[in-house]
Amino acid sequence: MTKTALITGITGQDGYYLSHLLLHQNYRVVGLVPPHRQPNLSKLGDLADKVEIYTVDLRDSTGLFTAVEQLQPQEIYNLAAPSFVPDSWHDPLGTLDLITGTATRLLDAIRQVGLSTRFYQASSSEMFGDVTVSPQDEETPFHPKNPYAAAKLHAHWTMVHHRQRYGLFACSGILYNHESPLRPPQFVTRKVSLAAASIKLGLAQSLEMGNLDAKRDWGFAGDHVNAMWRMLQVDEPEEYVIGTGKLHSVRELISTAFDSVGLDWQKYVIVNTNLLRADEHFQLVANPNKAKNNLGWEPQVSFEQLLDNMVKTDLQQLESGKIQPFIAVEHK
Ligand code: NAP
Repeated sequence: MTKTALITGITGQDGYYLSHLLLHQNYRVVGLVPPHRQPNLSKLGDLADKVEIYTVDLRDSTGLFTAVEQLQPQEIYNLAAPSFVPDSWHDPLGTLDLITGTATRLLDAIRQVGLSTRFYQASSSEMFGDVTVSPQDEETPFHPKNPYAAAKLHAHWTMVHHRQRYGLFACSGILYNHESPLRPPQFVTRKVSLAAASIKLGLAQSLEMGNLDAKRDWGFAGDHVNAMWRMLQVDEPEEYVIGTGKLHSVRELISTAFDSVGLDWQKYVIVNTNLLRADEHFQLVANPNKAKNNLGWEPQVSFEQLLDNMVKTDLQQLESGKIQPFIAVEHK
């Protein structure tokens, strides 16, 4: 029997990689997309004619109920979110409504329609926030530091409550940073890959950065969506921390990216001390042992392979005029 999977946020980075994985497994993939976001369907690229689009406002409980009732999905992946964290300070209520509201409305729809649909919630390592222990696992307490993280935590607990009270198959992945050539340029990995490729082609001269010693757990989006799918294939719905378990500094990120196009980063990177942030005492880094043991999940793409792919893709797309070069700030 062909399984149907519904995805919110299908036009995002993870939506693309998850759709790719599910189509490869012969799923019928349906994206739930509000009318005002449909100009962004072009972001689906080569998958645009392989997935179906169901038009519904994610703030509309009745509309989501009807979608679930009509489409009778075996799996729902709730990925939609304004995912660039600093933006959440500009619209905390809108962030809460989209992230928590959509999760709650979808869970209620599954319960009311009475299906055995399996539900995945895109939780985030941002929920750990001010950590006092490293690495973090499924037992680590949450201390969210921004409206995005608070909304994600609310959605996370709503998912847990629906599982405990109503017996739904609902679970979440607490995901650490994951990247790809589809990452928007405001994220540091893509900023660096685009700058390296632009400088290589003579389209930019320099890259301005803040704290080069900041460290992150960066993985590949294709690996992380694989974990999402695995969470819905096991017998028991549970939470899983998903990350590589390896920390890399921004300095390593830059040097690896510039290396992949044969450039010495130290000639091009300007450290702006105004952008420096205080050193973080404890780092956000995953302990993914539970996912390894229960799901058989492990990252397949290394940090070096990830950055090489990002920089080379940016290089090709700049050369073919598909994307705009990195715009550096002028320095006197
Ligand atoms: P992304 O590339 O920013 O994609 C976000 C998706 O949400 C896009 O499809 C976007 O639609 C949609 N969206 C945003 N605002 C919306 C709104 N008001 N109504 C309907 N749809 C809206 O994010 P991602 O990297 O794929 O991440 C997927 C999920 O994982 C997100 O929930 C994110 O918070 C979470 N997460 C990501 C990471 C990471 O490192 N990538 C880590 C932890 C958790 P448009 O295309 O129309 O903008």
